[in-house]
Amino acid sequence: MIRITDILDKTHEYLSPEDLEMIEKAYIFSAAVHKDQKRLSGEPYLIHPLEVAGILVEMKLDKSAIITGLLHDTVEDTLTTIEQIKEDFGEEVAFLVEGLTKISKIRFGSQIERQAENFRKMMLAMSSDIRILIVKLADRVHNMRTLEYQPKDKQRFIARETLEVYAPLASRLGINWMKMELEDLSFRHLSPEEYFGLLNKVAKKKEEREEYTEKVKRIIQEKIEGYELKGRVDGRPKHLYSIYEKMNEQHINFDEVYDLTAFRIILDSNEVKECYEVLSVIHANWKPVPGRFKDYIAMPKANNYRSLHTTVIGPYGERVEVQIRTREMHEWAEKGIAAHWRYKEGKISSDEDEGQIEKLRELFEVQHEHKDAREFMRNLKIALFPDEVYIFTPHGDVKSFPKGATPVDFAYSVHTDVGSHCIGAKVNRNIVSLKYKLQNGDTVEILTQPGHHPSKDWLKYVVTSRAQSKIKQWIKTEERGKSIAIGRDVLEREFKKNHLTFKKIVKSNEFKEILSDQSLGTVDDLMALIGYGKISAKYIINHFINEEEKKEEDISAKPKKKPGVTSDTGIKITGVDDVMVRFAKCCSPLPGDDIIGYITRGRGISVHVSNCPIVQEMDPERLVEVRWNIKQKQTFRANIRLVCIDKKGLLSDLSSVISSLGININSANIDTIRGENATCEFELDINDLDQFNKLSSAFRKITGVLSVERVRGTFSDSRKKDYLRNAFKS
Ligand code: MN
Repeated sequence: MIRITDILDKTHEYLSPEDLEMIEKAYIFSAAVHKDQKRLSGEPYLIHPLEVAGILVEMKLDKSAIITGLLHDTVEDTLTTIEQIKEDFGEEVAFLVEGLTKISKIRFGSQIERQAENFRKMMLAMSSDIRILIVKLADRVHNMRTLEYQPKDKQRFIARETLEVYAPLASRLGINWMKMELEDLSFRHLSPEEYFGLLNKVAKKKEEREEYTEKVKRIIQEKIEGYELKGRVDGRPKHLYSIYEKMNEQHINFDEVYDLTAFRIILDSNEVKECYEVLSVIHANWKPVPGRFKDYIAMPKANNYRSLHTTVIGPYGERVEVQIRTREMHEWAEKGIAAHWRYKEGKISSDEDEGQIEKLRELFEVQHEHKDAREFMRNLKIALFPDEVYIFTPHGDVKSFPKGATPVDFAYSVHTDVGSHCIGAKVNRNIVSLKYKLQNGDTVEILTQPGHHPSKDWLKYVVTSRAQSKIKQWIKTEERGKSIAIGRDVLEREFKKNHLTFKKIVKSNEFKEILSDQSLGTVDDLMALIGYGKISAKYIINHFINEEEKKEEDISAKPKKKPGVTSDTGIKITGVDDVMVRFAKCCSPLPGDDIIGYITRGRGISVHVSNCPIVQEMDPERLVEVRWNIKQKQTFRANIRLVCIDKKGLLSDLSSVISSLGININSANIDTIRGENATCEFELDINDLDQFNKLSSAFRKITGVLSVERVRGTFSDSRKKDYLRNAFKS
């Protein structure tokens, strides 16, 4: 059983007397608040935080981490508050303890296998300081060491969680001993029979093994010394779980596992090139097994593990696995991220160690002058998982999303129907907009309403491809429906005009022939094409009327038009006739402007200026080519705005210019601010762009006119939407 004096003795080696005092204070605090609590083993609860602190001391972590180890369960399990911790032990410790308390609240869902990776990442993401995670891991190590006091089902649950979440986390942080211990302890509780069976087998061979190991070590040692390379050779039995994994993966028996011992050559020097020299010595003396050489120096593992690995046919004809590394590399391989604090505390600060930190910084792309450990860790975390956020479902499951994901992404990840019908979301029980960017640890609940539909706007703020494709799919289906309706409407009208019965013709063989000519499957396919303006209704009609009927139709059609009202829209739409046409109010096109048509939902085709910013936001699928086709004199609404020096008779000057060009004024408005410029706005009936241009140049010639501008849309809109005006300035 560990005592506080053991901890103080050990920290004495690398911490200051003031630090030791604080650690002792934390011990007294922890002892007081945990006073009447007992562990399941019957021991006083205090043993647990002490053991956790002991593990942290072994890892030579800093003062704050050790104090956090002593206090890690106080807020969670006693009446202690974070404020109290802050007051007694300062901001930093309070921050760490709070982080641990938060993590302890993460609950695992039912499908742990599927989620394990997400949980690991989530824990890492939530530990804004990696020390939080290291203390959490130390906590788990001690809980695993004392797991036998838990009820059986709890043992299995905790062991599984450890194997799937904590051991891989330890590995990711490069803390190898912890990974091995957590794996073996989990293995023992999850598959006790296999565990103890394997333990026996390894023990039986122990003596034989040890003798062999000693011999091989000596031989390797002699060989490398023969080349004046200095280092120590280690031969360690592999941990049970790794043997068990290997047997499972390769489907082999225990007797077939050749490398129960891993041999390691740790060089005295930190010269990388010596690793390769040792490798060549090994390969020169023993035949390498093809495909077994791995260069983790040239390509370090994600956790910065570096070494050369090779397998050779060893001195006794047996396969031997050898790892070669420098002292520095070894330090990292054993302690991982925890090794950083030793350097960080400045207790060891040779040039070599500085070099190691430098390499770390490069690896994690941390700026040269990072300010504190927290910053370093934040960057580390970003380097490990740069672009993900981890989100809870209301049931406590975790899902990962790309950074910037919104509730809509979340909704589609649950189910397409949830996505399509989503009208809002609650994040941590508060209503948020669908544009809200999800944050790590958010709990998201989607509000749906049957009959609600996706909006094209959503495409602007979803980031997952699933949501994108589902929304696009919906829009496509939806728009196809509309196009079919437009197509049917157009065709029916054309039929009616020609005194043909739509219903009959659709069922006729000729009609079916048209479909097969166009390689279309259904009538709807054809309607959609007509609706999109890709096939003209005339083209279809011509199959059903003879030449004479066509002439008759031409003659009989004319008198139908009401006198004085032109039904001619002045627009020709490629391939389509008799479609309702309107001019978009947002850009009010004039003949001469480049135009484009947009197939609206059930309101015919709206004609925009080609570069109208509104039409550019619209679905390109529904745009149709249109051109001006002015047959008789027609006028179009156009708005013009002038800024003038405020002077007498201005309005009469302007209006006489307008009427001299034969233009009708619909309305005029003049705004003057005393002593400043006047703004004059005219709403005019204009024939075409040419006439408009003549007018604006005539205006510009009037003295006192400062600027002339064509205003798209209404004046009030244009005042609101400056961007529209700017977009049109050419
Ligand atoms: Mn604990």
